Amino acid sequence: MRREEETATEADRRAHAAAARALRAASEAARADYRVRRAAQRAAQRAVMLRGLEETLFGSRMPDPASLIVAAGWTRDSMNRFCLRCGTTLVPFEDRRGGCSACRGRALSYAALVRLGRYAPPLSQWVPAIKRRAWSRMADALGCELGAQVRDACTADLMELPQAVAFIPTHPLRRLLRGIDHSERLARSVALELGVPCVRALRARLALRQTGGGRGHRIERGGRFVATRAARGLRGKTVLLVDDVRTTGSTLAEAASLLRASGVCRVTAACAAATDPPGRHGERRAP
Ligand SMILES: [Zn+2]
Repeated sequence: MRREEETATEADRRAHAAAARALRAASEAARADYRVRRAAQRAAQRAVMLRGLEETLFGSRMPDPASLIVAAGWTRDSMNRFCLRCGTTLVPFEDRRGGCSACRGRALSYAALVRLGRYAPPLSQWVPAIKRRAWSRMADALGCELGAQVRDACTADLMELPQAVAFIPTHPLRRLLRGIDHSERLARSVALELGVPCVRALRARLALRQTGGGRGHRIERGGRFVATRAARGLRGKTVLLVDDVRTTGSTLAEAASLLRASGVCRVTAACAAATDPPGRHGERRAP
């Protein structure tokens, strides 16, 4: 009898201990869940605060891009308006097999290039204002358009669908002074539109101002970027390289070569605006 009682007590004790353990585990899980939700909440609050601060400091006086685009009656270029190899404006009835007359026979380090339009008003006013006036909302709007342009090119089989998006980086010091990394902002919007990750694959070295030199000067200068650790994750992939303006193409070429040297299988490019080379109609130099 006594032994039976002892066994019953022992069983009770075990059941009690098991219940206590389950309760502890459940409360621990609830605490962890709360911590995760709280961290996400704080990150969202920080993002809202930073965005507000950014808009107050830099972009508060800039007009709303969507209404501006509508008011200007601007639309992105159709695919037969420009050369899909180098981004130059095509002249009517120009033969585009193997590229346009500006790039045919030239080796390019990127497989294809898509643009929104020629470097002319209104793009020549909007695109520089993204970096000069930290107009982040314009970067978002044009990035969205550029993403759609890339998707259209991929759908028409004119370009390979990218698996990731990279961008021409701004040096941290310059970014701090400007309040924006314009190409990154543009690229993040493109990546969002395409549903692929945006990777900081390159880092900028501090260089002298680009506007000082002429065309040849720009081509001669090298070593402006360094591949980051994140570039290793792009090995064997097709990467879309985003920049705001393509002038001579030397910046894109250098960055694309570096990406390929770090193992990227194929590099394609996308820019908001492209300058036409001298001799073509309506050319205008980027700032
Ligand atoms: Zn071309």
